[in-house]
Amino acid sequence: MALPWTFVRQVHGARVLVVDGAVVEPVEADAIVTTSPATALGVLGADCALVGLASPEGVIGVAHAGWRGLAAGVVEEVAAAMRQRGASAIEAVVSACIHAECYPFGTAELAALCGRLGAGVAATAADGSPGLDLPAAVRGRLATAGVDLVGEVGECTACSGAYFSYRGRRDTGRHLLGVWLESR
Ligand SMILES: [Zn+2]
Repeated sequence: MALPWTFVRQVHGARVLVVDGAVVEPVEADAIVTTSPATALGVLGADCALVGLASPEGVIGVAHAGWRGLAAGVVEEVAAAMRQRGASAIEAVVSACIHAECYPFGTAELAALCGRLGAGVAATAADGSPGLDLPAAVRGRLATAGVDLVGEVGECTACSGAYFSYRGRRDTGRHLLGVWLESR
């Protein structure tokens, strides 16, 4: 795969960068959309969910989705940007991310998130404290945005042993999720 990559400076927000080719100088955003086969889109994470999106019209996207980005609406924003570029049905895959058993969360913070993302994001961590169900939060936002979830790794970055985890081990490595169009 010899395409140049486009990355963004991820800030846990909801801004979408729409590109027509590779953007070498990263700008602040947490999602990228293109219709161009001239660049691969990449997002990086260790515990946050990474979402890859595609449509039959050849509109593709990626999103970096931790709880801040989900609350800010990054999933809805990337889907809207894809539809503006002509996407009809949108399908998504979701990376490994931190799961509730490894994600203790403050009671007040979790209650606030439930107000924004729905009661289904509340769970219990392994230590018995409140925990955030990040995969459920991603699934909920995808459903709200009218996006079909067609693939989910379903493993926890913090305890599965196969992934980088910042919260679990202060790992400095990051996973890459990449999406690109095959030129025909
Ligand atoms: Zn875990």
